[in-house]
Amino acid sequence: MAFEGLAERLQSSIKKMKGKGKVNEQDVKEMMREVRLALLEADVNFKVVKKFVANVKERAVGQDVMDSLTPGQQVIKVVNEELTSLMGGEQSKLNTASKPPTVVMMVGLQGAGKTTTTGKLANHLRKQHNRKPLLVAADIYRPAAIQQLETLGKQLDMPVFSLGDQVSPVEIAKKAVEKAKEEHLDYVLIDTAGRLHVDEDLMNELTQIKNEVKPDEILLVVDAMTGQDAVNVAENFNEQLDLTGVVLTKLDGDTRGGAAISVKAVTDTPIKFAGMGEKIDQLEPFHPERMASRILGMGDMLSLIEKAQTNVDEEKAKELERKMRTNDLTFDDFLEQLAQVKEMGPLDEIMNMMPGAGKMKGLKNIQVDDKQLAHIEAIVKSMTKYERENPSVINASRKKRISKGSGRSIQEVNRLLKQFDEMKKMMKQMSGMQKGKGKQKGGF
Ligand code: GDP
Repeated sequence: MAFEGLAERLQSSIKKMKGKGKVNEQDVKEMMREVRLALLEADVNFKVVKKFVANVKERAVGQDVMDSLTPGQQVIKVVNEELTSLMGGEQSKLNTASKPPTVVMMVGLQGAGKTTTTGKLANHLRKQHNRKPLLVAADIYRPAAIQQLETLGKQLDMPVFSLGDQVSPVEIAKKAVEKAKEEHLDYVLIDTAGRLHVDEDLMNELTQIKNEVKPDEILLVVDAMTGQDAVNVAENFNEQLDLTGVVLTKLDGDTRGGAAISVKAVTDTPIKFAGMGEKIDQLEPFHPERMASRILGMGDMLSLIEKAQTNVDEEKAKELERKMRTNDLTFDDFLEQLAQVKEMGPLDEIMNMMPGAGKMKGLKNIQVDDKQLAHIEAIVKSMTKYERENPSVINASRKKRISKGSGRSIQEVNRLLKQFDEMKKMMKQMSGMQKGKGKQKGGF
């Protein structure tokens, strides 16, 4: 999980502030000293840290905070806002050409995850936005690169444009754009060559491709795990190519998070996506606000809801939302939800995104594997329709009957009833958050 140490340290200094009825300059100073150390330890660029601390201090000791009823919380709000703005403020979306195809050049050093990200981005564009991308193999130097992209194309059932390794990358890129036009494909994703280090030959080649195809988007793929190096690489590429966006990969393995926090501030290039794992669907649009909330332990409900929504059928979701609001959730819904949670991925990952989820211990213990699901199903199916719809009537004698009918122990029945209660609480919390969602637009 990204930002582990930072999140822990910031949250502990925030805790001290939270309940304070009065905040004086000394309190803010002390908190900011801890915040400063936490950021430096997370490998955030020192200039960025300095500016951040100065900004927060200035705002936090201002009259608005001191005179407010909840000064402690106001300071936290300032930290949250400044952290958000540091990472780019608003979510930055992919540029789109006024006339298709939109041409995207993927650039970066070898091993950063360029080829993988090209596949992920194509998948994202099709899955979320119904687009038709063309993958272009323009890395003719790394022997396996063309093949890797072709394999990805097969896996995704998407066209891959390749002219082998004897034609120049500039020519390949040019022909690929022509082909996309002919075939009415709306995105051209060019996987360019990488090197181990930034070098002149590479930059010349990339500049030539840029001049030839005039891309709408030049995305630099950098490995977040390399911390400050990632920031230096971004600075270098930006000087030469004038980047339009950054994709931070391997954020799943980057426990410190320094690159994510510094890249935008140092290069003034927005982070547009984050790679969260090796799998094809593990690419997320980067939301500075959500990332800041996650770091400060305020959860990430919007990402969670979006994640749920891509797996949930619209009609059912609406019905469920109504039930959540009216608190009409039944055991039949519960069964259905469990099946969906299973689809969404590891429960731990989901729990991490929820504020206060740590407190819902009962929920955390739900192991949604197939066997458990079958047990739960057996218990629920042994309830009468009335019981399923009105779980509160399930008393001791009913429990005994249900236990017998399902072949599961009374303890298991009890546990399930408790989990159902927890789930209801969670649903209520989620539905509350969902109402505020209108403000946030989902981007590419
Ligand atoms: P390229 O040389 O830049 O094209 O890099 P590749 O696309 O071949 O990726 C290098 C390695 O990084 C591969 O093993 C990928 O599976 C891995 N990788 C790419 N993105 C991510 C990510 O977001 N998370 C993790 N954990 N691994 C990633």
